[in-house]
Amino acid sequence: MSGHIPVIQPIDKAPSRPRLLARGFTRRCAWCGDRKAYFTGWFQRQERCQACGHSYRRGDEAFELGAVTANIILTFLSLLLTILVLVVATAPDVPVVGVVVAAAAVGLLGPAIFYPVSFTLWQAVDLWMRRPTEAELAGISDATL
Ligand SMILES: [Zn+2]
Repeated sequence: MSGHIPVIQPIDKAPSRPRLLARGFTRRCAWCGDRKAYFTGWFQRQERCQACGHSYRRGDEAFELGAVTANIILTFLSLLLTILVLVVATAPDVPVVGVVVAAAAVGLLGPAIFYPVSFTLWQAVDLWMRRPTEAELAGISDATL
């Protein structure tokens, strides 16, 4: 199923940085906060948000590189947290095999689970670092690097 791509809706004011992160972490469009954002499936996405029509790419050809980096960071933090919690909870008799199996499961599933959030989070970080211009908010022009 392909998503509906609306005309770009003007955004009155750039979202605050905490709001951007909150939206990014919850897989929402960083621009407008829409739940579907630009996803048409867990792994399928389109160039523009289905609600506000703003692009996540913002003129950046290598946007996915940032999303992959966000995915790696989220997965590694989950690995660290898994190992830490299991070791602290079971010390001093740590079940090493169990910890390794749990860590392997997190390491294998993490990238798939975090796939959509990696994109929305990186979009939030991008909007945090490169604040949108008035013209970009109005949907008149795209951002430039
Ligand atoms: Zn949106």
